Amino acid sequence: MTDAVMHIATGTATLAHTLRLTSGPRAFCGVRITGAARTAPLCPACATKAGWTHDKRH
Ligand SMILES: [Zn+2]
Repeated sequence: MTDAVMHIATGTATLAHTLRLTSGPRAFCGVRITGAARTAPLCPACATKAGWTHDKRH
């Protein structure tokens, strides 16, 4: 089971943690992250709340 979009983890989670999730952290948009494919689109709600003006994965 994977997320349809890639959420951004809150708290102390690093970007690497966001990309490769192991402990089910909470996403900025409030969902429990289960992990998404690296090619999955970024969650727009998470990107807004995290203050990302562009996709920082690249
Ligand atoms: Zn999200």
